[in-house]
Amino acid sequence: MAARIIDGKAVAAALRASIAERTAALPYRPGLAVVLVGANSASAVYVRNKDRAAQEAGLRAQTIRLPADVAAHELMAVIAGLNADPEVDGILVQLPLPDTIPPRPVLEAIDPAKDVDGFHPLNVGRLQDGLDVLAPCTPTGVMRLLSAVGVPARGARAVVLGRSAIVGKPMAALLLAADATVTIAHSRTVDLPAICREADILVAAVGRPEMVRGDWVKPGATVIDVGINRLADGRLVGDVAYDECVAVAGAITPVPGGVGPMTIACLLENTLKAALARRD
Ligand code: NAP
Repeated sequence: MAARIIDGKAVAAALRASIAERTAALPYRPGLAVVLVGANSASAVYVRNKDRAAQEAGLRAQTIRLPADVAAHELMAVIAGLNADPEVDGILVQLPLPDTIPPRPVLEAIDPAKDVDGFHPLNVGRLQDGLDVLAPCTPTGVMRLLSAVGVPARGARAVVLGRSAIVGKPMAALLLAADATVTIAHSRTVDLPAICREADILVAAVGRPEMVRGDWVKPGATVIDVGINRLADGRLVGDVAYDECVAVAGAITPVPGGVGPMTIACLLENTLKAALARRD
């Protein structure tokens, strides 16, 4: 039997509508500030989309554009200003930064209470402790998809392919906090297909087009494809060979239209969460 297709667009739309409703009931508008350094065209598109989605959800969004040759101390001064601004609840510095600015001190300069990307080491550590924090948006979106389609993490064998700080590691921490038994696999893992076949929940976040084949998937498993890869012929594909895996899995996310739409929705939700925690 073919897998159930997990409609990330619909789940994200419902989440954005719920954020708009909760925001409308507040006596203030939660504020999101996005800092964009330089003119990376992909980043500019992401930032525009975040800005539009935030406005639509009733948040007060501002984008601060800085030139690519901005000095690190000037960027730090902008962040300090946003940290001190009572109207700003969430701060996001769009990555990647120009090579001249090391990202770590910049991310560490953001007030952890306003760190809606969840990259500050304090939030990273709290997440590892299983605490309720501002967690990175993409893995948070995956958890929301799992619960939206009624796939319980508790007791499940989960395999996370990829160990990046942005996706793989926080994904594993969230699954563990939700009582899954978690394996993290990476480029040095031996016999990846066998490890993947153990998974009730398989999350692929490797950035390798269609790497996960149909015979890597346990029949009936839930397959979540975080990957976004543009092929030479212009097609957008995930890290999962969709046509093969859809025939084996119990449920699967498409690319596009699966995890992607959840990331911005979870950014909005993190902004609302930060506002409620700071102001109430
Ligand atoms: P990343 O920082 O490049 O990390 C990739 C991870 O995959 C690394 O841990 C790497 O292992 C592992 N890996 C690479 N090749 C592998 C192989 N052949 N076998 C096993 N493991 C392998 O990437 P990322 O930022 O986590 O992003 C992963 C994918 O998700 C990308 O396609 C990205 O575009 C997509 N993404 C989507 C969203 C969204 O909103 N949907 C958000 C973020 C990222 P090592 O650690 O050993 O090098």
